[in-house]
Amino acid sequence: MVDQQGRNVILIVEDEESYQDALNVGLSVEGFVVVGATNIAEARALLVSAKPDLVLLDVMLPDGSGIDYCRELHDTTHIPVIMVTARTSEVDVVLGLEIGAADYVTKPYRLRELVARIRAVLRRPLVLNEGEIVDFGELKMNFVRRTVTRQNKEIELSRKEFDLLALFATHLGQVVTREVCLDTLWWGLELSDTRTLDTHVKRLRQKIEDDPANPRHLITIRGVGFRLDA
Ligand code: CA
Repeated sequence: MVDQQGRNVILIVEDEESYQDALNVGLSVEGFVVVGATNIAEARALLVSAKPDLVLLDVMLPDGSGIDYCRELHDTTHIPVIMVTARTSEVDVVLGLEIGAADYVTKPYRLRELVARIRAVLRRPLVLNEGEIVDFGELKMNFVRRTVTRQNKEIELSRKEFDLLALFATHLGQVVTREVCLDTLWWGLELSDTRTLDTHVKRLRQKIEDDPANPRHLITIRGVGFRLDA
């Protein structure tokens, strides 16, 4: 979940201290909030308390396999995972098995390359499994049929309105920055030209809120972006 300044939170799951330290410093300098776990048990706890936007996951961990944990994350969350592999044999495993990793890097990697991959993954719109329905209270979204129902009645959304709601829905309870909204839905639109985004948010509120002037679901985080609450 992005913090007050719109910074993304990265969870590093890595048992080698030298990597933890270097990443902590390097990624902080690049404007990320870094939380570190040295094993899978710690990672599970931080997933709840720190609400990371992305997980950087080592393969060999003291209490289990990063491959299995990646699969678990893929099955239970929408948080993207970048696998960190130490050997080419591990790359084969990451690529060969469908474990749901968004990307991978091989040790030793350069910080600049890693940061570029992190940024690229964070910019990707989240793709849900086929047919998956996101159900948040009175709203239900079907991503294959591209339909939204509210209190069991289908509501009409334009293509952009659906995509915007989908972006918020796949980050339920997390702040989505204005920058991410524009990057994802309006390629090339300048950050200063945000009226289009505000217009779409306003229209969405008219369709999904009981009282659009006092929204309960689609909340504006002033100066940062928006958050969809169930
Ligand atoms: Ca390791």
